[in-house]
Amino acid sequence: MGLGLAESFAQVKHEIMLAEQTAGRTPGSVALLAVSKTKPAALIAEAYRLGQRHFGENYVQEAVSKQQQLSAFNISWHFIGPIQSNKTKIIASHFAWVHSVDRLKIAQRLSEQRPAHLPALNICLQVNISGEASKSGIALEELAELVDQVRQLPGLRLRGVMAIPEPETDFQRQRQPYRQLFQTVQALKHPELDTFSYGMSGDLSAAICEGATIVRIGTALFGAR
Ligand SMILES: *Cc1c(COP(=O)(O)O)cnc(C)c1O
Repeated sequence: MGLGLAESFAQVKHEIMLAEQTAGRTPGSVALLAVSKTKPAALIAEAYRLGQRHFGENYVQEAVSKQQQLSAFNISWHFIGPIQSNKTKIIASHFAWVHSVDRLKIAQRLSEQRPAHLPALNICLQVNISGEASKSGIALEELAELVDQVRQLPGLRLRGVMAIPEPETDFQRQRQPYRQLFQTVQALKHPELDTFSYGMSGDLSAAICEGATIVRIGTALFGAR
């Protein structure tokens, strides 16, 4: 408790930098996505003034309301929550990125519904890497086929994968599922798959050691929800 927003951002960025160093990654190669779900627009504005530009939201109505309040800001909005098919139209028109695509039907709808005046929607496919029943995402074995289907869709730009593993406190065990996912994507040999969206407040260093290019951080920046 008690850290101000500036201190929290500085601390998280420092942790990212240290992990990049430890892992031998290029400095600055890991982007910070600030997960602002349940947090008010005023807090997003404060983070924006600290230089943050990419924000992640899980709930469509909540996100759209904040986008309206913050329309004067040059924010890149990322949708990271579960997607119902009756929400694809609004998601396709209100976000720059969607990290949580886990079936072809959703991808097809997002592609068809992406407004023509906007650039292709950046997409990550959500992969369930710990086989947890409660979490969405495709199995690793299904990834190659879905990649081949989604990369054909004209309204989308397939960028990579996203994962939310089962919570784990041991550093080596945190790394294991990320390593498996990274290697599976590398084996597909699609150079356009340049995005690995994994790592949250509790495991961002492990994720960076295993190739994360976007870490999605909520609690460590904005406090408990
Ligand atoms: C809430 C959420 C996060 C952020 O989690 P923290 O543990 O608060 O950092 C990241 N990714 C997804 C998909 C989330 O829903």
